[in-house]
Amino acid sequence: MRIHLLGTSSGTPDPERAATAILAEDGGQALLIDAGDGVARTLARPAYADVVIRSVILTHNHADHVSGLPFLFQRWKANGRTQPIEIIAPGDLGSALENWLAALRMAPERLPYPLEFQKLEAGEWITASGHRVEAWETDHFAGDGTGDRCFGLTLKPPDGNWVFSSDLGSLQPLREHLRGASGLIVETTHIDPVEAVQTAKEHGVSRVILTHIQLGVEPHPIEGAVWAVDGMVVETSHSGEAKDE
Ligand SMILES: [Zn+2]
Repeated sequence: MRIHLLGTSSGTPDPERAATAILAEDGGQALLIDAGDGVARTLARPAYADVVIRSVILTHNHADHVSGLPFLFQRWKANGRTQPIEIIAPGDLGSALENWLAALRMAPERLPYPLEFQKLEAGEWITASGHRVEAWETDHFAGDGTGDRCFGLTLKPPDGNWVFSSDLGSLQPLREHLRGASGLIVETTHIDPVEAVQTAKEHGVSRVILTHIQLGVEPHPIEGAVWAVDGMVVETSHSGEAKDE
């Protein structure tokens, strides 16, 4: 499987980076994880011309993880897409998206392709795109009183598990999901990247990619990890230490 880091910025708009979006594909139907600002523009590049996204997982309801979605819908509409799109989102985000799309004159009944909304809950399942995924809750929103939920994901292709932390409040929820993982893509906006790399190594994770990079933060080299850039591609079948790919 290949994991494409389409957007690697934090929640602050960055002239050099798009907001969070990760594409997982292995030549067949693709899975998009989060759809931050810039994702539709990135996916319009010729390099992604053959990518057919069948499923979208939104890890939580923050703008930098969701804001690119309507423009992606518009692109699919313009392209004459008829194949359904599965959208897996936590809490009320799915119905909020339906309302948003309706306000943008893209109500589901006006689209040439069906929308299949699913609620994101903790657990393991296979997406409509054919990807085995486990979702687990992070503490990104812990104690804020909203009841909103944020999920980290473990992608489980046959050649080794890859963990995407999404946003965290601490490293604690991540720890339980690192054992046996081949790789980790971890956010660095809300947690200490050095500690995250150390934690990954303690759990035997050989490849660590640091993403969700705050505007103005100079990514200093950290041994055993690489900093993400937009367009980075990770081949999950590769093994060994992280390197710039
Ligand atoms: Zn967030």
